[in-house]
Amino acid sequence: MTPLPSTAPGSTLAPRRLVDSFGRVHNNLRISVTDRCNLRCVYCMPEQVEFMPRERLLSFEEIARFVAIVAPMGVDKIRLTGGEPLLRKDLDVLVRMLVAIEGIADVGLTTNAMLLAPMAARLRDAGLERINISLDTLDPGRFERLARRPGLDATIDGVLAAKRAGFDPIKLNAVIIRGFNEDDVVPLARFAREHGLGMRFIEYMPLDAGHSWERAKVVPADEILDAVAAAIGPLAPAPDQDPRAPALDYDYLDGGGRVGLISSVSRPFCMSCNRLRLTSDGKVRNCLFALDEADVRSLLRSGAADEAVAQVVAASVAGKWEGHEINTARFVQPDRPMHSIGG
Ligand code: SAM
Ligand code: SF4
Repeated sequence: MTPLPSTAPGSTLAPRRLVDSFGRVHNNLRISVTDRCNLRCVYCMPEQVEFMPRERLLSFEEIARFVAIVAPMGVDKIRLTGGEPLLRKDLDVLVRMLVAIEGIADVGLTTNAMLLAPMAARLRDAGLERINISLDTLDPGRFERLARRPGLDATIDGVLAAKRAGFDPIKLNAVIIRGFNEDDVVPLARFAREHGLGMRFIEYMPLDAGHSWERAKVVPADEILDAVAAAIGPLAPAPDQDPRAPALDYDYLDGGGRVGLISSVSRPFCMSCNRLRLTSDGKVRNCLFALDEADVRSLLRSGAADEAVAQVVAASVAGKWEGHEINTARFVQPDRPMHSIGG
């Protein structure tokens, strides 16, 4: 990231870098484009859900304006998410708009891939490079119990279409829940290896709509890593590890690929967090677990100057807390479940 000048204390101008009071520099923006989804994963969404009225969702133009405002403040990496982002019609149009913004080096997508097969080539042509695909199991019955909808075949079709379209890297994301899908760890890791895909395992976090998360349901990253190494082969920490990335990456010693572990619960990585979120209804969140958020939609819609938006974002980052406190008695689960925040 290019070093950017900071603003002098007391200045009325927006700071030119998004640095919080712990010195964490924020360059990574996750944008949720919708709270809607074609699945109902138990760890993310309620079974019955009332979605936001469409007029509350930011338009592509509003999202692009927001990104053009924060790019000069140091944001250079974007990930589109949701809800299911591919439910937003013509998402490739948004990708094209974001890729064209000066300073944006990387636009990625996190998707359940159910609708990816017919869209993959268009998204690639628009300039999307990285795709993360959520796949928690290779068993169709278990898929349906986890996602409360069938869809394994469509997801696999999406994975294969992403490969054909030339995305690189493609990573599979699996949330592992004790008593639900820990038996899938090894088959998923094998599947990823066979197809030349990255595999990332995510610890189950307290962001489910039913507030039924329990610590006993979290399968710690170390246990997952041990299971993969024992069944498939030895792994060693990746030499090119990005210290600010949430995943701890390990490479198979035989060169057969990479496994990442996102250990948000067992080994929180809050002190290296560089992420900021924009929800689909135009709220800035400085943490997945934040209990408050800053509204920028009203500014974007009321003719406010870019500087006013920049000030709100800078203030949100400046006020970021030290970490999520899941492992303390003080932890409070946010009201918004994951699909509504943007994972
Ligand atoms: N619908 C898309 C998908 O599933 O990839 C994008 C949105 S989804 C909210 C983004 C990521 O959040 C997915 O990889 C999903 O598995 C993960 N996720 C959702 N709820 C979670 C939870 N309670 N704990 C850990 N990860 C979660
Ligand atoms: Fe939908 Fe993704 Fe949440 Fe599953 S994890 S319900 S696919 S938003």
